[in-house]
Amino acid sequence: MRIARFSTDDGVAFGVVEGDVISQIAGHPFGQIQFSGERFPLAEVRLVAPMLPSKVIAIGKNYVDHAREMGSEPPGEPLVFSKPSTSVIGPGEAIAYPVKLSERVDFEGELAVVIGRLCRDVPVARAHEVVFGYTCANDVTARDLQAKDGQWTRAKGFDTFCPIGPWIETVLDPADLAIKTEVNGEVRQDARTSQLIHDIPTLIAYVSAVMTLIPGDVILTGTPAGVGPLDIGDEVSVTIDGIGTLTNRVVSRD
Ligand code: MN
Repeated sequence: MRIARFSTDDGVAFGVVEGDVISQIAGHPFGQIQFSGERFPLAEVRLVAPMLPSKVIAIGKNYVDHAREMGSEPPGEPLVFSKPSTSVIGPGEAIAYPVKLSERVDFEGELAVVIGRLCRDVPVARAHEVVFGYTCANDVTARDLQAKDGQWTRAKGFDTFCPIGPWIETVLDPADLAIKTEVNGEVRQDARTSQLIHDIPTLIAYVSAVMTLIPGDVILTGTPAGVGPLDIGDEVSVTIDGIGTLTNRVVSRD
């Protein structure tokens, strides 16, 4: 099932996308879904971020080739950092390039896991029970600030630096999906999720051993090789088989 959030003249709601129709959900999409009865042509609504998470947890250097392109070997344990909830935007929204503070902003296409249940200390074998679904993400990163600061809060945390979408696919085996990032139509990252060093159950167990996860929380699973800079005016797309394509353009902040 494809769960989206969308905006109409009446406000923002969750919906289920089937073909070119979106059926409005009454309330939230966790547990048993109740429909409002309203249906809209998909082309007539504006999709927004499919979830507003309480937190976004991300994993660094979780593909061998990307760790090497960053000049390091992959870490033995997952490398965990976070992005503020205010960095989240949806499909079609603009990534705001913070021109006063950074001269190097990179795309990082990633598979994102959306949590569906309140949980803590989840065993690897039960991790699938707390997954709501999967979506595409772009872990936008001010690479110069990442190097300069020695930790990543500013580099990863600007408003608009976490596009997610276009929707959440709830029925999907994430073990071996093609993931591709394009800039202005040119393929820049092309990999498979089977190349993840630490798989999704391992990441859920690892993160939930530290912090309680809340329905809607998002875990970004890391980016493959091929990361590179964005310029103002670029259009960047992340496509994952079985989910769809997340497209955002880059504008200047201020
Ligand atoms: Mn990343």
